[in-house]
Amino acid sequence: MKKVSIYKPSTVDEAIQILSQHGTSAAVYAGGTDLLIRLKNRLEQAPTYLVDIKKIDHLRYIKEDAQGGVEIGAATKLAELADSKLLQEKYPMLVEAVNKISSPELRNASTLGGDLLQEVWCQYLRGGYSCWRNGGYLCYGAIGDNSYYHSAMGGRLCYAVYPGDAATALIPFDARAKLATPQGVKELSIEQLVPGDLMVDGRIQSHVVRFNEILTSVVIPPPKPGLRASFEKLRPRGVWDFAMASLAISLQLRDKTIDDARVVFGGIAGRPLRETTVETFLKGKTLSSELGEQAISVALASAAPLKYNATKIDMAKGLLASGLARLNA
Ligand code: SF4
Repeated sequence: MKKVSIYKPSTVDEAIQILSQHGTSAAVYAGGTDLLIRLKNRLEQAPTYLVDIKKIDHLRYIKEDAQGGVEIGAATKLAELADSKLLQEKYPMLVEAVNKISSPELRNASTLGGDLLQEVWCQYLRGGYSCWRNGGYLCYGAIGDNSYYHSAMGGRLCYAVYPGDAATALIPFDARAKLATPQGVKELSIEQLVPGDLMVDGRIQSHVVRFNEILTSVVIPPPKPGLRASFEKLRPRGVWDFAMASLAISLQLRDKTIDDARVVFGGIAGRPLRETTVETFLKGKTLSSELGEQAISVALASAAPLKYNATKIDMAKGLLASGLARLNA
């Protein structure tokens, strides 16, 4: 395990000051389930200074806002989301998705912010290979065993899939993320928060949060009348694992007519993949038992599987058909 020093700030401003002082050698520490593995494996980007935000007030809560939406503090445990009556009442699909993240033990430790901003789960990175994400100049996932944790939709430098489920499930609700920065509060859509592999402060990461910024909360707008949503996830091990493919889908229905749709695939690309071609196809259609097959025919036309992961695309299309069938039941 890499040796670290730990700070325990009592305010977000203090935490930002410490992060600013240490640059990319510091990192936020909340649940720690992802961070501790990076430290244990002594990865290149593992921090030397941890900024423990667990004692900061106002980062761990689930509350209804004045508009009837819900705001969730970034340090809220996944288990607390899974047990929330408020979320179950307003966004049952989100609760369904959270219950499929990892194991009950890990959900007791992991936070919403940690799930959204977690490192990719590529076996080459976790095994300490010197790849793009670990100080090297090569992607082993693109040329080696890429059957589980690599993109079937192309990539830039890193071909690992974005591993989180919460982001995939939040996008259909048009949720937004709030970040505390040295310049003040910044607000982003979840798609803007996790756009896939890109260089930020000299490091490849899946999210846009800079070294001296902290994700503080996620805001979900009030659920629209007539909205129906479904989340499904296929994984190598049924008890707990990352998605081989997942789908979060929401339909805005007027009787059986689809007025609006969100279709977001997880586990197949470097980001939660919003499939706008299918969304456009679904708008104005009547929800029926034939619609799944029709939607599949226009889905994922830009798929670019690697040598061993074409099956992810078949899985994703199967989830699209079953998701539409569930919403038609
Ligand atoms: S997929 Fe990403 S993490 Fe894995 S070897 Fe390639 S660059 Fe490294």
